[in-house]
Amino acid sequence: MMGNATTELLQADETGMTRAAQLLRQGTLVAFGTETVYGLGADATNAEAVAAIFAAKGRPRFNPLICHYPTVEEAVAHVVADERARMVARTFWPGPLTLVLRRNSHCPVALLAGAGLDTLAVRVPRHPVALALLRLAGMPIAAPSANRSGRVSPTSAAHVLDGLEGRIAAVLDSGPCPIGVESTVLDLSGPEPVLLRPGGVTLEALQACLGPVQPAASSAVVQGLRSPGMLDSHYAPTLPVRLGASSVAPEEALLAFGPPLSGAGRVFQLSAAGDATEAAVKLFEGLRRLDREPGAIGIAVMPIPDVGLGRAVNDRLRRAAAPRGVQG
Ligand code: AMP
Ligand code: MG
Repeated sequence: MMGNATTELLQADETGMTRAAQLLRQGTLVAFGTETVYGLGADATNAEAVAAIFAAKGRPRFNPLICHYPTVEEAVAHVVADERARMVARTFWPGPLTLVLRRNSHCPVALLAGAGLDTLAVRVPRHPVALALLRLAGMPIAAPSANRSGRVSPTSAAHVLDGLEGRIAAVLDSGPCPIGVESTVLDLSGPEPVLLRPGGVTLEALQACLGPVQPAASSAVVQGLRSPGMLDSHYAPTLPVRLGASSVAPEEALLAFGPPLSGAGRVFQLSAAGDATEAAVKLFEGLRRLDREPGAIGIAVMPIPDVGLGRAVNDRLRRAAAPRGVQG
């Protein structure tokens, strides 16, 4: 769906949910809230519906989508899940963890959803509205973040409309997202667990469950081969982003973490108390707000410790600050 068609704004009540499920069954696109960010959903078993996701987002076809399920049993039924994968799934699902596993021979998910790879990224979200929608729809839902490719992820229905109004059938409004950054992506398709993307489940929590977890290679080229969507520039506001700021220029806007730097005029506070979990919730809203500050020439970001959810926040900020040539 493209151009000037209207996008329905649905409430998360019985009428809205029923309509959202009906639109998904018809093969159209419905954005919906999860605990991480808003997803742009389509029937994962319908190749045309999946293709429409790539078109609406302007997403490169080599960047695979995450497939969402209402239960652990349904998710593992489409992939090769050994005892290790099942244990991780039981521990963290429903929740903000995506597992990359090999597709099995009877997996009905359109190949395009996985960008033609022999693996599939699967997740059981824990937001009650997302779970209810998945149950009502009765099919796996492929859903990347509901933003134009390369731009800032949406954590409210208004953010979704900002980027996709007129390009999708509907948005199901479940309020602001309680975690605010995307799911952690963990590759369990090989012998060693590999962290492809830090996110809502911390590395510390994964290691407590699994033992050592390899970090994905930091080079965009190597990482891009293993997880095609993880190209460097992503989550990008229009203004340039400068990390690790210890001072701020008068014409810069400041993304603060803890007491703001002196001299800052335009400030968005991620967490006055210096709490990374709170910063994750506010990150994308902060980037969007500062991007609209009249007269600002750039966004300076104060340092955030690289532990817990701080890793996911820093990962998004690094990509927001990356050269804009290559987009995920
Ligand atoms: P998004 O839904 O926009 O947050 O993006 C999902 C991300 O999950 C993609 O950018 C990929 O990098 C990653 N992903 C999805 N499927 C796979 C897969 N089969 N193998 C590796 N990474 C994947
Ligand atoms: Mg995304």
